[in-house]
Amino acid sequence: MTPPVVEMEGVSKSYGPVHALRDATLTIARGELLSIVGPSGSGKSTLLNVMGTLARSDTGTTRIDGHDVADLSDGELSALRARAIGFVFQQFHLAGGVPAVENVADGLLYGGTRRAERVRLAERAMRRVGLGHRLAHRPHELSGGEKQRVAIARAVLGDPPLLLADEPTGALDSRSGAMVMDVLHELNAAGTAVVIITHDHGIAGSLPRAVQIKDGRIEHDTRAEVGA
Ligand code: ADP
Repeated sequence: MTPPVVEMEGVSKSYGPVHALRDATLTIARGELLSIVGPSGSGKSTLLNVMGTLARSDTGTTRIDGHDVADLSDGELSALRARAIGFVFQQFHLAGGVPAVENVADGLLYGGTRRAERVRLAERAMRRVGLGHRLAHRPHELSGGEKQRVAIARAVLGDPPLLLADEPTGALDSRSGAMVMDVLHELNAAGTAVVIITHDHGIAGSLPRAVQIKDGRIEHDTRAEVGA
């Protein structure tokens, strides 16, 4: 049986006196689509960082794609992250002056894939996000929404089972934001589990599941009625 893509049990993390995450228990099945919502400082990024294996928790268990991260060395953790998790951030993080397709191809730089193959996959990923006509454009020649779609193409280049998006529409106008959400929905429909951190209750309400966090605790984990 395929394991859930994320299984967190009793996960806590503090920064000095600040309890950023308290006793979080959360399972995300393959192919799910959900939001993580909560006020600023409530622990959303901490939850995402632990889930993304960018930070280790103080207590509790985190399994990603069936692997307990506590059992892995830093090198093994990097390999798991490279294979299983794509990241998208509010501020795109594209390399300036570098053609979009090269920015995307760099998504597999550490996976041992040959350059020609990386570029071929990057062109395919660019078409997947509707940017097949923008391959040679440099970031400053793209709109904010297009930049975010390039960042998404880079994140899904290796077809990870999990995509983590931290405020992916936070820097965009509503039309560009809607296009980015469309791309995330399409990726999810093709099988990727997508987790979206958002302040936007409109976005949270449009997704099948919403995890609400407050003061480091998961307060509600609600699923929309089928067909609602
Ligand atoms: P959110 O993403 O919901 O805004 P965070 O997870 O970033 O919340 O932060 C949760 C709490 O942990 C906040 O009080 C924040 O100030 C604190 N915190 C987060 N990261 C650090 C850090 N690296 N060092 C110290 N405190 C931190």
